[in-house]
Amino acid sequence: MKKKAFQKIEVSRLGMGNMRLPSVDAKDSKAPIDYPEAIKLIRRAYEEGINYFDTAYVYNDGDSEKCLGEAMKVFPRDSYYLATKFHIDANPDYEAVFEEQLRRLQTDRIDFYLIHCLTDGNADKYLNSGAIEYFLEQKKKGRISYLGFSSHAGVDTLRRFAAHHQWDFTQIQLNYYDWNYSSAKEEYQILEERNIPVMVMEPVRGGRLASLTPEANEVLKTAHPNWSIAAWALRFVKSLPQVQVILSGMSTMDQLEDNLDTFADDDGLNETDMETLEKACSMFKNQIQVPCTACRYCCSGCPMEINIPEYLKLYNGYKVDGEQALAGAAAIESKGKPADCAGCGSCIGHCPQNINTPEIMTELARLL
Ligand code: SF4
Ligand code: SF4
Repeated sequence: MKKKAFQKIEVSRLGMGNMRLPSVDAKDSKAPIDYPEAIKLIRRAYEEGINYFDTAYVYNDGDSEKCLGEAMKVFPRDSYYLATKFHIDANPDYEAVFEEQLRRLQTDRIDFYLIHCLTDGNADKYLNSGAIEYFLEQKKKGRISYLGFSSHAGVDTLRRFAAHHQWDFTQIQLNYYDWNYSSAKEEYQILEERNIPVMVMEPVRGGRLASLTPEANEVLKTAHPNWSIAAWALRFVKSLPQVQVILSGMSTMDQLEDNLDTFADDDGLNETDMETLEKACSMFKNQIQVPCTACRYCCSGCPMEINIPEYLKLYNGYKVDGEQALAGAAAIESKGKPADCAGCGSCIGHCPQNINTPEIMTELARLL
C-alpha cells in the first residue's frame, strides 16, 4: 500500500470509508451492520497497509463508529488514523457529540476531525455555532490532531468556508465525471490555491463509474485490459497532486482486493490515458443523457404546458445518479406533469436536437 506524507505523518493513499460496511441484509439499506463480517473486512484492510479509517457520527445511526472502534482496538493506537465528523443538524451539541464519539471509537483522540457535509444552507449555522472554535481548542489540547471539513457546498460557499482559517485538510466529492461536467475541478483549484490537502470521497461516484455503457467500457478495456473500470476512476484522482487520501466505501473483500491492486503502485494516468478517459467519459455522457440545451423552443407549442427542459434535466440526473435524483421532481414549476403528455409530437418538431420528448415523458411518468 503506497503512502503519502501529510505534515509529520505518512497516510495510506487509499482510505477505508465505513459508511457501507457489510450488513446482515445486503438488500436492505437500513439493515444493521454484520459485526463479524465488518470487523474482518476492517482488520484485513489494516493488515494490507490501509491506515486511514473514515466514519461519521451519523453513519448507521452511530453503529459505524462503534464497529470501527471495536475492530481497531486490537491494534497499536499510533499505527492507524481515525477520521470522524460532526453534523450540526444531527445533534448541535458539539461538546456532547465529541465526547460520545471518543467513547464509541474507544479512543482518547480523533486524528482527523471534520465538520460534516458543508452545504450552502448550513455554512452560516456552522460558522456561528461556536463548534469550530471548540474543535480548535480540542486540537490545542491534543484531543484532535487535524481539523478539516467535508463539503457538498457550491464553489462560493466553499471558497468562503475555506478562508475561515488554515484548515489542515478537506474532503470533497471528486471524480472524473464531476471534474468534466460539474464543479469538482473548480473546487479542487480553490483548495489547491489555499494549499489545503484533499481527501476524496465518491471517486467512483457511488459506484456509477464502476461500469459505464458497453461502448465506453470497451474504450477503457482496449487501452488497459487488466484494469477494472473502477480502477480508471481511482487512478484519475491519484494523479492529482493536491489529493492526499482517496476514500472508498468498501462492503466486500472483492472490492477491497480490487482497490488494493489499484493502490499497489503510485501510478496514476499518463497523458494518453487521460485522453482515453475523456473520450470514454464523453461517450458515456452522450449515451446516457439527452442533449437538451434548454433553448425552450419546444415549450410554447406544448398543449399541456409541460416544463420540458426542466423535466429533461431531471431525467439526465436520474441517468447518472439513479432514483435519488427523482426527488427533484417536486421542485419543478410546471403546469403539466410528465403523465399529462398527450404524445402530440409538437415538441419534437421544434427541437433542434431532435429529442424524442414524448418517449422520455412516458418513462418519467412511470418513474415518478
Ligand atoms: S408530446 Fe407531450 S411534451 Fe411534447 S408537446 Fe406534446 S404534450 Fe407536450
Ligand atoms: S427544444 Fe429541444 S433542446 Fe430546446 S428545450 Fe426543448 S427539448 Fe430541450
